[in-house]
Amino acid sequence: MQIKGGLVFDLEKGFVERDLCFDGGVIVSECGGEVFDATGCYVIPGLTDLHFHGCMGADLSDADAEGLETMAKYELSRGVTQICPAGMTLLEEQLIKVCTVAAEHRAANKSGAELVGINLEGPFLSMAKKGAQNGDWLHKPDVAMYRRLAEAGHGLVKLVSIAPEEPGAMEFIDELKDEVVISVAHTTADYDTALEAYRRGAKEATHLFNAMPPFSHRAPGVVGAAFDSEGVMVELICDGIHIHPSVVRAVFKLFGAERVVLISDTMRAAGMPDGDYTLGGQAVRVNGKLATLADGTIAGSVTDLMSCMRTAVDFGIPLADAVRAAAVNPAQVTGIFDRCGSLDAGKDANAVVLDRNLELRAVFFHGCKVE
Ligand SMILES: [Zn+2]
Repeated sequence: MQIKGGLVFDLEKGFVERDLCFDGGVIVSECGGEVFDATGCYVIPGLTDLHFHGCMGADLSDADAEGLETMAKYELSRGVTQICPAGMTLLEEQLIKVCTVAAEHRAANKSGAELVGINLEGPFLSMAKKGAQNGDWLHKPDVAMYRRLAEAGHGLVKLVSIAPEEPGAMEFIDELKDEVVISVAHTTADYDTALEAYRRGAKEATHLFNAMPPFSHRAPGVVGAAFDSEGVMVELICDGIHIHPSVVRAVFKLFGAERVVLISDTMRAAGMPDGDYTLGGQAVRVNGKLATLADGTIAGSVTDLMSCMRTAVDFGIPLADAVRAAAVNPAQVTGIFDRCGSLDAGKDANAVVLDRNLELRAVFFHGCKVE
């Protein structure tokens, strides 16, 4: 298979006019076989969404095998070729089921986007900043509990969120920093506490600005601590609802495109009509782009990562930077960049063709066009 005539994403140069060639599910430098005409189009790596909960009526937290396959298929159709869905704050027994079902899904080599990980957003979060997480099921950071969940996930747990001000959080980081990417989330932490979490080995900030104290001039909070901690990555929900366009532009300038991870944070209503749904056991009403709990708290989004990338570009982010934040960086965070996240020879033949308006023209997965 060869994709001819397109502008192909390149990590160093932005976009270059060249052909992209696949052979046996892998990107190769010698072209041959069937031709896909991408003249006038952009060709980018398949995206990786490392923080979304559900779509098409399904949610990772349901621990439902069929639902997970539905999610994987939908994401692939949107150009998200790798997924690392996120759990909510749930009881341990339910989280064990979530991890078990995900591990079984991966082992069975089910269709749809490749499940490359599980992101445990809950339960080690702060009651005061729980957002749409269920407060009844919050839990203090607990290394033994984390290890039980990781074991149920058979190595699939790639990220875990914690509120670093909670008792035991710093010890949690000390103990697990080399086993999993620890992300600071749903937190009241001030600058010093967050900085200490990063100094000890936390590596990410979960949906920067959302469910944390603001970035203010004498109290820079998690945002300032992440900025001051070299190499720490920041997630940004770029659905046009969670973050003001000016803040999206500021974050890309402040952190640089190489430190921003675009996420969709979608819930089960993504891809579905307006109506009543649930998220982590709580009722959510969806109206247009807005999903809210009964008290008005924003409860995830109803978009997809490709649309978030497009929204970032609408807000003024250069396309190459937006692609970096949606395809390259999340592949690096989830530890799959050696085979995904760029269009270099030897990597998985996962690519997306977008027209000049960034609308989907075609998705290629393991070298085949997704129909
Ligand atoms: Zn959250």
